[in-house]
Amino acid sequence: MANPKQNRQKKPRKDWRRVVVAALAAFLALMMLLPMFTMVLEAAQAADTSELEQQIREYQKQQADLAAQIKDLDRQLKSIAGDKAQALEQKRLLDRQISAKVQEIQSTESIIAQYDALIADEQAKLEDTQAKEEIQYELFCKRVRAMEEAGTVSYWSILFDSADFADLLDRATFVSEIMEADNKIMDDLAALRKSIEAQKAELETSRADQQTQRDALVAQKKELDAKEADAAALVQKIQSQESEYQSSRDALKREEEEVEAQIIKKQKEIQAKIAAGQISFDPGTGWQWPVPGRYKITSTFGPRIHPITGLPGNHTGTDVAAPKGTAILAARGGVVTISTYNNSYGNYVVVQHDNGIATLYAHMSSRAVSEGQIVTQGQTLGYVGSTGSSTGNHLHLEFRVNGKRQDALNYYPNLSFTYS
Ligand SMILES: [Zn+2]
Repeated sequence: MANPKQNRQKKPRKDWRRVVVAALAAFLALMMLLPMFTMVLEAAQAADTSELEQQIREYQKQQADLAAQIKDLDRQLKSIAGDKAQALEQKRLLDRQISAKVQEIQSTESIIAQYDALIADEQAKLEDTQAKEEIQYELFCKRVRAMEEAGTVSYWSILFDSADFADLLDRATFVSEIMEADNKIMDDLAALRKSIEAQKAELETSRADQQTQRDALVAQKKELDAKEADAAALVQKIQSQESEYQSSRDALKREEEEVEAQIIKKQKEIQAKIAAGQISFDPGTGWQWPVPGRYKITSTFGPRIHPITGLPGNHTGTDVAAPKGTAILAARGGVVTISTYNNSYGNYVVVQHDNGIATLYAHMSSRAVSEGQIVTQGQTLGYVGSTGSSTGNHLHLEFRVNGKRQDALNYYPNLSFTYS
């Protein structure tokens, strides 16, 4: 009874041994194969990652080109805004000159109207005096006719008819008195007429002067009107040019956003590889301040007026003042996903870390790492400069969490910063 039991017990033991031996053999074989297998896997991953990085590089080229075009349009928009302000100012000045000219013309015209009224007055007086002269002449003629009818044909006949010298003197005195009276009336009327004529001539000269002045003013206004029309046309032209630039700028901006979205997508793919352990690195601990000893913030994250274009916008990162050539250290270990130049960021580096966080360092004078490179926390990525859209040496630092920009300073709660 014991033997079969022993046999039964022995047999499984032999099987177990065989299994162990077989497993050992398989294990050894696998151990020999594993490096090859891993190499193949790594090669496949490397090809995959470099393909993604290649795509990112292509998108970045596109982005740089778009940024350059937008920058150029911004410059044109800015200069056009200056032109427009100038044209509008010129138009306003002309408008003011024209309205002053119109007032001048109006006052000249009212002076002319006054002269016209005065001239009309003088004309009426003249006509009145002429009528009086005519009446007086009529009276004189009547008197002469009455004398002829009475047989005393003329003053002379009155004189020749005198009886003696005393009578002659009497008659002569009488004739001379009549003659004087007639002559005086006629002379007075003629003098009055002459003075009215002189007055009227004077008024007409003054009126003609005013008319000449008015004609000159009208000519000046006509010139101003032409200038004003030119200025208005210029403003119109500038406005349409401006809206044209604005719409092409908007189109470029949209395109740039699409490219940015593509970069984010590719980075997410790299991020997924990091998460899956297909790319590994030592992240380090916490967050290293990239420019130790430099804590002066010149522009914070969020809304601001752009220092170059003067247009309102959103500051995508945090600006830290630092002298040219200051080493910029990796905030945390990771893989360099971008190391390139573009018109707005200048020389810049993006490092993808763990937990979906990427950091961006812009306006470098030069870069010290290349795309695809694994970096350790505190490793030098590049050096402070003022390349791209920058007005002075500084580090533009961005934190991107799953592609979304966040305030970098939130990651350094224990540092104290100064702001300017
Ligand atoms: Zn900045």
